[in-house]
Amino acid sequence: MKAAVLEGLQKITVRTDVPVPSIGPRDVLVRARACGICATDVHIYDGEFFPTFPLVQGHELAGEVAEVGAEVRELKPGDRVMVDPTVTCDDCHFCMTQRQNHCLQWNAVGVTRDGGFGEYVRVPARNCYRFERVSFSEGAFTEPLACVVYGQDRARLGLGSEVLILGAGPIGQLHLQTSRANGAAAVTVVDTVESKLDLARRFGAAHTVVADNALDERLRKIARWGYDVVIDATGNPKAIQGALPHLANGGRLLLFGVCAPDATIELKPFDVYRRDLEIIGSFAIRRTYDRAFKLMENGVVRVRELISEALPVEDTVRGIETLKHGRAGMKLQIVFPE
Ligand SMILES: [Zn+2]
Ligand SMILES: [Zn+2]
Repeated sequence: MKAAVLEGLQKITVRTDVPVPSIGPRDVLVRARACGICATDVHIYDGEFFPTFPLVQGHELAGEVAEVGAEVRELKPGDRVMVDPTVTCDDCHFCMTQRQNHCLQWNAVGVTRDGGFGEYVRVPARNCYRFERVSFSEGAFTEPLACVVYGQDRARLGLGSEVLILGAGPIGQLHLQTSRANGAAAVTVVDTVESKLDLARRFGAAHTVVADNALDERLRKIARWGYDVVIDATGNPKAIQGALPHLANGGRLLLFGVCAPDATIELKPFDVYRRDLEIIGSFAIRRTYDRAFKLMENGVVRVRELISEALPVEDTVRGIETLKHGRAGMKLQIVFPE
């Protein structure tokens, strides 16, 4: 089969001689149809997620069931499925205390085992969610949305919250839509790119602000007492640092964008104490796939406008490089023809 194989640091080769994976009794073989490229893929490509080579990346996957294992009852060949990439043991301390995203044997399709930048993928049957009403491209978008739903749970938005979102890429746009669904009174979105802010306005941002020298002043004008929730969707430590003074007393900062592992910010513990601040992390997905899909299927969250380009698997490197250098309009996806 054809697959984009990460063979070493920043070295992807598109091969046609990759063997089709064999499946176990509780697995299904999924024929990939659409698979998003994500900032995490850039980190893996750059060696920041400790990849083991060779690896077929791609964790935002939707496709068709091609084959089912002997013990699989709920799925059959031809079913359209999207795949929760998170593979957990369900036995360890963290699985047993409802923190499956911290499973001691945590694995993820396309991150620690082969994923959707190849024609066929081996996936545990229980990770597959059948769907009908949306396209494969939209189905593949459930993965980042499921991450965002988990982040929203962590940030505990209250009805009437004033929210600030840093970054208007696909993740920022998903946080905008889910914040509104969660009852935000007003969402302000910041980015350096005007066209991305235009899209944020179409998705209901109350305010959009270009990140330039006047940023602080404009943010203060919008929310005099600061923002109840600030969500970082940039992974840029400078942007996060700059947002700290804009947290209202009692405010919460959700660190959602992935910073480099050795990046740091400066934080005054006294401020956190005196101002009742909360700094919140959010890693991947914790059983939020089903809810994410319902939000999309029912039109509460729209993703079609967030897909800017569909690439053949031969263009995987171009896609990753485009994202890496900030030239992607919105979400790029690898698609496989019927
Ligand atoms: Zn991702
Ligand atoms: Zn576990």
